[in-house]
Amino acid sequence: MFDLNNIIRENIKKMVPYSTARDEYKGSEGVFLDANESPFNTGLNRYPDPHHTELKIICSQLKKVQPENILFGNGSDEIIDLIYRVFCEPGLHNAIILPPAYGMYKVAAQLNNVGVKEVCLNENFQPDAEKIFAEINENTRIVFFCSPNNPSGNIINKEVIKTVLKKFNGIVVVDEAYIDFCEEHTWLKELNNYPNLIIIQTFSKAWGMAGIRLGAMFASASVVEVLHKIKPPYNINILTQRVALQALQNKNQKETWVKAIVSQKVIMQKVLETLPFTEKVYPSDANFLLVKFLDSEKIFTYLLEQKIIVRNRSNVQLCSGCLRISVGTMDENLKLLEALKNF
Ligand SMILES: *Cc1c(COP(=O)(O)O)cnc(C)c1O
Repeated sequence: MFDLNNIIRENIKKMVPYSTARDEYKGSEGVFLDANESPFNTGLNRYPDPHHTELKIICSQLKKVQPENILFGNGSDEIIDLIYRVFCEPGLHNAIILPPAYGMYKVAAQLNNVGVKEVCLNENFQPDAEKIFAEINENTRIVFFCSPNNPSGNIINKEVIKTVLKKFNGIVVVDEAYIDFCEEHTWLKELNNYPNLIIIQTFSKAWGMAGIRLGAMFASASVVEVLHKIKPPYNINILTQRVALQALQNKNQKETWVKAIVSQKVIMQKVLETLPFTEKVYPSDANFLLVKFLDSEKIFTYLLEQKIIVRNRSNVQLCSGCLRISVGTMDENLKLLEALKNF
């Protein structure tokens, strides 16, 4: 049986969180002489809300998830780091990642001195539950899935994730950074069925806000509570909260962008497949395409010379010969395709 209490590190259970001035007095009106802030109104002279209350309300309506099931991070990268810190004792516990996967899972594990066990996806970039369970031991605390997966672009088989959620007594993370491009595949509607499920999303991709650094975690209220306890109190600054509040009220804009990108992706896929030096364009549920070329190094260098920058994934497991290409504006995509035709 999964029991959250069994997997929270002892020091974190015992820890008394920093109590901010804004925690001790919650009213928004009054004479604030409690936080050594400047009294002169610059629009930014007060500390931000550590509870992200307004943002949670908007996000709750948008995602149809209760506010107590939401936590915001300074990018999803901060959330990944917080998850390791809550559940993994440095030098003892380990996490399972499924390469080829997003690089931060490993980097954040190494930073926290947490062991990493790699269970490679198969040639269709799908995981195998049996192989995952073969690597899980008594010190395994987290399994990371990324769906749609970066760098392959595909949705991860739902049954495999379900099996791990049911049989593994640790945390199962589903990173949905690209879920806006295939919303019907989200795990959000399953949140209440699995106490060990953590979903991560970001406003860096479809929402067009990589620059403000805002990621969201959706999990049980108790998991949210423990991460809230250890997060830096003011992790989401006022500028970010302000801009995000504005943007999240304009879901139509995001949806228009998503439609444009998805339709451009379909065109790019078709054209790329006709090129004589393309071996394979992998099916993608995200805003990028993984493309296998006969000579990816030459193409990568050639594109650089044309000032077109794509991601070389040739040295990543299962991706030899592959470049990862983000879908840009129609204009940018045309420049890429034109350059490739002249290769
Ligand atoms: C881009 C990306 C993120 C984004 O992280 P932020 O820190 O929120 O910008 C997270 N996970 C995956 C798989 C990504 O590709």
